[in-house]
Amino acid sequence: MNAPIKKNLEPRNPSRRGVDLLHDPLLNKGSAFTAEEREALGLRGLFPPHISTQEEQVARFMRSLQRLPDSLEKYIALNALHDRNEALFFRVIVDHIDEMQPIIYTPGVGLACQKFGMIFQRPRGIFITPNDRGHIASMLRNWPHRAGLIVVTDGERILGLGDLGANGMGIPVGKLALYSACAGVHPAQCLPVMIDTGTDNGELLVDPFYMGLRQRRLRGQAYDDLVEEFMVAAEEVFPGVVIQFEDFANQNAFRLLEKYRGRACVFNDDIQGTAAVALAGMFSALRITGQSIAEQRVLFLGAGEAATGIADLVTTAMMAQGLDQKAARNRNWLVDSRGLVVKARKDLAHHKLAYAHEHKEVVGLLDAIRALKPTAIIGVSAVGGTFTKEVLEEMAKLNERPIVFALSNPTSQAECTAEEAYRYTAGRALFACGSPFDPVTLNGKTFVPRQGNNSYIFPGIGLGAIMSRSRTITDEMFMGSAHTLASLTTESDLAQGSLYPSLSRVREVSAHIAAGLAKTAHKHGLAQEKLPEDLLAQAHASMYDPRY
Ligand code: NAD
Repeated sequence: MNAPIKKNLEPRNPSRRGVDLLHDPLLNKGSAFTAEEREALGLRGLFPPHISTQEEQVARFMRSLQRLPDSLEKYIALNALHDRNEALFFRVIVDHIDEMQPIIYTPGVGLACQKFGMIFQRPRGIFITPNDRGHIASMLRNWPHRAGLIVVTDGERILGLGDLGANGMGIPVGKLALYSACAGVHPAQCLPVMIDTGTDNGELLVDPFYMGLRQRRLRGQAYDDLVEEFMVAAEEVFPGVVIQFEDFANQNAFRLLEKYRGRACVFNDDIQGTAAVALAGMFSALRITGQSIAEQRVLFLGAGEAATGIADLVTTAMMAQGLDQKAARNRNWLVDSRGLVVKARKDLAHHKLAYAHEHKEVVGLLDAIRALKPTAIIGVSAVGGTFTKEVLEEMAKLNERPIVFALSNPTSQAECTAEEAYRYTAGRALFACGSPFDPVTLNGKTFVPRQGNNSYIFPGIGLGAIMSRSRTITDEMFMGSAHTLASLTTESDLAQGSLYPSLSRVREVSAHIAAGLAKTAHKHGLAQEKLPEDLLAQAHASMYDPRY
């Protein structure tokens, strides 16, 4: 395998002793070092006498966390724990994933990024700027571990918050924490990278606490050359490394993915991970309606990375059921801020062209629904409240079980709430959301809406790619992950309106997705690792377990 994944951390690293050992977050166990370890490792007397169990440490930390007033304070406390004791940090996250994910990732991480310069304590990851041209490989060698997985951003489109420049480093850091928590990718294998090419955010450029490069963004060939040097250096320093592009703006996200996807083991979670999780929700919904994916007509509100990513994968899934590409694409339509995306429209961005079909211009979503009669509407516009009562009632008029996914987040941006989705379709909507919503009771029936959370998909994709050392990550692998996720949604989940399994099962989900990816890699000759027969057992065995 790429690098040995140790199941447990081994504190008896002879090169680290005493206070030095306590300052290594990958080896530190804090007050849980046993009497023998304290003696052998030069720690005797450095702690109060009680030897804690990890469970006690988790309980102590949770008690102190719960006393903190808001998500940002909790983020800071968790980050400090991450810097001190990685195993304990991950044990806290794994044992309380539902509660912790909104703090270490969306929506909490958004504010943490905005305040990055204020809350900065210790650096994590590698920061690359245009001034580093010619030195990137040597900078990557400064990282003390053998990276198996890199999450890289340039900070230009951080969540729905726009250009946050170098402050966007919080996103790769948070995402990699989820790789370790949700799929057991060993923390030592995870490298966050910020390609800081400047920022066009005027407020940051004059913010005295801003820690990034104070210049306007680099564009054009110089930008491409910098990314190219990074990509080549990453492969040279960490051969076979998996690279995930994260939160690049549209104009670079699509281009970079196209440029590198056939050349290296890369993917873009905003485009492809989102696509797989949305397709999984559709597969689950179709288990209820008994229809096939090829019969669907899908209308997207939004025409960005999420919308076209999902449309592309839905197209792939429809083609797998026998439609040709043109027919499959023709069943996917986009509505952007100017209305239905149609062929006659001038100046359409390149990524929308595949879904610009022949049709007269239509301005509003409701009129587009009346014209196209979709079986599914998918909201990825980041504009709140756009699935109005009339929109939802129209969908319920057209379909016995309308598929309604309101995927935009944070909650204020959701196209509709779960309550609205169920109420205005008389409880018939097959609903998934991008923001968390509480269960809804309508006419005596309780619905449990679940989030189409990318963390069901990308951690397993990363683990599978590391495990198999796949040369590339293909659409078939993402489609496979969608099938896997849908298949792990139980009948009782479906009965309560949940289109995804509970998030507490995410490590099991990731193991299945990793095994599926490895199998596909093997089938197509992409795997560079010799794989055992039982891939699921192998996936489980590869997972980092944060227990001491
Ligand atoms: P993006 O910036 O690439 O795309 C947004 C698109 O919405 C653009 O095409 C824009 O033209 C369009 N838009 C803006 N205003 C509109 C309007 N009034 N009507 C119709 N369209 C409009 O962003 P993205 O990465 O595609 O993400 C979009 C949203 O989806 C965000 O809120 C994001 O948080 C959410 N998202 C959710 C998930 C998930 O739930 N798993 C995953 C990814 C993205």
